[in-house]
Amino acid sequence: MANTSLDPIFSPRSVAVIGASRKRDSIGFSLLHNLILQEFQGAIYPVNPHAGVVHSLKAYPSVKAIDDPVDLAVIMVPKTYVPEVVDECLEKGVRGIVVITAGFAEIGAEGAALERQIRDRVRAAGVRMVGPNCMGVINADPAVSLNATFAPVPASPGSIGFVSQSGALGVAILNVAQSLGIGLTQFVSMGNKADVSGNDLLEYWEDDPETRVICMYLESFGNPRNFTQIAKRVSRSKPILVVKSGRTEEGARAASSHTGAIAGADLTVSTFLSKCGVLRANTIDDLFNVARALDRCPLPEGNRVGILTNAGGPAIMATDACVNLGLRMAELSQQTRDDLRSFLPTEASVSNPVDMIASASAKQYERALKCIAADSGVDAVLAINVTPLLASPYDVLEAVAQGAKHAGKPVLAVMMATEEFYETIKSQPEHPPVYRFPESAARALASIERYAEWRRRPAEESIPVFEVDDEAVEAILDKQKTGYLPPEDAMRVLALYGIPTVAWRRVAGIGELAAAATDIGFPVVLKAIAPDLVHKSDVGAVRVGLETADAVVAAAREIETSVATAGYTLEGWLLQEMALEGHEVIFGISTDPKFGPLLMFGLGGKYVEVFRDVRFGVTPLAPSEADEMIHGIRGFKLLEGVRGEPSADLGILRETLLRLAQMTQRHPRILELDMNPFLAAPHAEQARAVDVRIRIGQPSAQSEGA
Ligand code: ADP
Ligand code: MG
Repeated sequence: MANTSLDPIFSPRSVAVIGASRKRDSIGFSLLHNLILQEFQGAIYPVNPHAGVVHSLKAYPSVKAIDDPVDLAVIMVPKTYVPEVVDECLEKGVRGIVVITAGFAEIGAEGAALERQIRDRVRAAGVRMVGPNCMGVINADPAVSLNATFAPVPASPGSIGFVSQSGALGVAILNVAQSLGIGLTQFVSMGNKADVSGNDLLEYWEDDPETRVICMYLESFGNPRNFTQIAKRVSRSKPILVVKSGRTEEGARAASSHTGAIAGADLTVSTFLSKCGVLRANTIDDLFNVARALDRCPLPEGNRVGILTNAGGPAIMATDACVNLGLRMAELSQQTRDDLRSFLPTEASVSNPVDMIASASAKQYERALKCIAADSGVDAVLAINVTPLLASPYDVLEAVAQGAKHAGKPVLAVMMATEEFYETIKSQPEHPPVYRFPESAARALASIERYAEWRRRPAEESIPVFEVDDEAVEAILDKQKTGYLPPEDAMRVLALYGIPTVAWRRVAGIGELAAAATDIGFPVVLKAIAPDLVHKSDVGAVRVGLETADAVVAAAREIETSVATAGYTLEGWLLQEMALEGHEVIFGISTDPKFGPLLMFGLGGKYVEVFRDVRFGVTPLAPSEADEMIHGIRGFKLLEGVRGEPSADLGILRETLLRLAQMTQRHPRILELDMNPFLAAPHAEQARAVDVRIRIGQPSAQSEGA
């Protein structure tokens, strides 16, 4: 949906600069100066009650004294005057406001209250506001040419939309963009995000034809669930790159659940971002490396990389980097190799990486690149050049640009050249993205392939709905407010959700064990039930393979002793049918207070603690995503069966994940679930959960804004 509410901020016909100053180096001077320097296409009205002229422009004592209409007001007056100035702006009928002034929510409760007051008034008037506590906004579109920031850096027009939560970092971002020759559509320093948030900007850029790549520097998500939903939609049409610093404040969770412990707070953020197609960069540097590739290259159709070089060393480094990042080295066809051989010297290597040796000319770069890019077994090309004695790096880059032109595949150039070369080429944004080192090019390529892979997925996959008795589940959850469900209730919840479990009986005393065991059928498994007893086998509270009633009773006596020694109070017994076949896997649910539930699958039993071989998913979970989680674990081959073992039935694993996804959506009171192990057997009918813990509590409240 088009977000036109930001138009007065990005494309105003006139700007009032409230707090414009004659004092050089002040914010009130710099911002006005930038507006003029960038040659803003509309009218500029400085407002300053103490000066008749500021920066050669007639100044007005207040915004209301301006005769002509004002679209955008940029406010830089001291904090105490901000509310009154905002009121004046609203009376004047301005349509957009940017508050640069600091001293609001970031300094404490009093500032936050003042900020809310201003926001409420602005919202009531239907006006949008950026800030407070920000560095301003830029629209580099030449038709507007608005630089309403106090940053000492100009902005060139281009195709990257950038939003930064930090003002100081915003200056650095503009600097880096300028030095790399990267152009922007709009830049926004959001500050405290009292009104306009990252989510608004995502929606604005979603429909902006000029913006090809969206970049965000974020410190927090005000409303992560909204963010993920919007991002998932926007990522379908354009890439979103995020540098997220810090960790979720509320990320701490009960470490007693495997799912919660493994899904540390920062991992959760990454998981949610990646599930929405959002690419996460670790540094601003990384972000621009990827953004340039996304901006200038088509998306790859697969992960097979061809490397073209004039030196061996960097090609080996590139190969290593690509393979480590999950890309594959392309196998060149006989035809391609013959073609290359026809014009390259005999010392050249014509299989991937194609090494044309140091004598390679610009012409050879162009021809070879065309050959490699034409090979249907190649999805992307890295063209590496170490400046040799003879060829000029400018000619080589031009040749690479020519070779890449009609390739229809990403071509990334690695130019190991002088500083002077980089200074010169930054003003030529037409060529393929250029990197100084093979690793950064490989990282950029791996990122765009990850995004392309996400885009290749079916957009609208239908999510199965299972017929289950949700009321019965709620009735079980109603029995207590918070904490772990008793084991028999946890088993019941699974059964109500159609997840197979072993047969079980809860027994109060040793005297009743024999009859219950006979009832279940031997062999049986005996487990102690005790409050707070989390890892039962650690204290000898699980005995498997009990063949007779006598063995059960004897085991119970031993468990009684070991449980007491460990300091627990025995509350009863859980007798279970012994599951005879299968690989131990773990299924889990862990709820992030802000992002929502996370699903986990991996190798279970004791392996989960040692190998942490797990994959995550978010709701709503599509069947293909469930499959990816299962196939994605490192130990997947074990489930498929090694050395002649039969494969585990994978259908029941996928179905179990989908059923759990439905469970968390319908029963948000379930905060954590660990099903460990679930025995993944060769046949679906033999697969069973043998141990489950469910923790319930208040579903997390939703915060406002973003
Ligand atoms: P905990 O995880 O609290 O130590 P479990 O109930 O998971 O206790 O039991 C520990 C191990 O015992 C399991 O990982 C599994 O190998 C085995 N086990 C437990 N119950 C059964 C069962 N019903 N059938 C087969 N093996 C079982
Ligand atoms: Mg267990």
